[in-house]
Amino acid sequence: MTEMRTEVLQEILDEIARDMAHQTERGAVASYIPELAKADRSRFGIAVAPIEGDVLVAGDADERFSIQSISKVFTLTLAMERAGRELWSRVGREPSGNRFNSIVQLEQERGVPRNPFINAGAIVVADILLEGRAPDAAIGDVLALCRRLAQDETVGIDDAVAESETRTGERNRALAYFMSAEGNLREPVDKTLDVYFHQCAVAMSCRQLARAGSYLCAAGRKRGFADKVVTLDRARRINALMMTCGLYDASGEFAFQIGIPAKSGVGGGVLGIVPGVASIAAWSPGLDTHGSSLLGQAAFRELARRTGWSVFGPVSEDG
Ligand code: GLU
Repeated sequence: MTEMRTEVLQEILDEIARDMAHQTERGAVASYIPELAKADRSRFGIAVAPIEGDVLVAGDADERFSIQSISKVFTLTLAMERAGRELWSRVGREPSGNRFNSIVQLEQERGVPRNPFINAGAIVVADILLEGRAPDAAIGDVLALCRRLAQDETVGIDDAVAESETRTGERNRALAYFMSAEGNLREPVDKTLDVYFHQCAVAMSCRQLARAGSYLCAAGRKRGFADKVVTLDRARRINALMMTCGLYDASGEFAFQIGIPAKSGVGGGVLGIVPGVASIAAWSPGLDTHGSSLLGQAAFRELARRTGWSVFGPVSEDG
């Protein structure tokens, strides 16, 4: 994988944004969270934060959107620090092969979620962040990390989205009560979900998100930071989980087609990490049937094809 000349990369991003503006197939916005249903499907943005140099953007890259499940990358980063290895006795690291909010597997596996990126796994991670303190403290930590990584204090939580999800989050409540019954949550369900719903409601732009992810493409290090954000080993493991579990039950397909560790969210964002090269964020609110942005994925495919940025080697048309 190679770094690219800034002008060439900017041209590619502009062309991708132009191409995406003309797409008629744009997927469907997430309607199970009413506030997300208001998103405008005509939007598309992309940002690339190269390991050296400034962030490059195209399209609606400065418009904020609900990062939803992409927040699970940041909460996992915090939970690894907080719980160390004990984390892995409460959540697995295998792809689930099921929908992101599936209940069936959780019962078969006695309340231990397959991985930290499906909803059940992220709820366990939220419980770890909450342990021994009030929800506001845990939410404050998540927001502080997002701001620090994005190097932008204006990153915030969209309260309308958090409220909307709290009102309609019965499936997540079912997952949480089940795990609580199995002894895998230590804090009261309503408090753990308060943390979870608020982390999902963090709002960021592609520019902010690409910048925030850059510690994962630089072995845990972030330019301008005195200390590492995470150890090299943890950065490697987060990337491995993004590759195998980051797009839910379509993670295999994304790896097969594109080959970039990534995490999607039902707000239409996709964060991708090209180790040693760049952190990438794409956003368009229309989703495919698995719950990931249709055009966000298309943009990654095109970017990987034109830059050669895939951890498995060049992406070509023939398969
Ligand atoms: N807040 C969403 C939920 O719990 C997150 C799902 C996602 O972004 O994939 O359903």
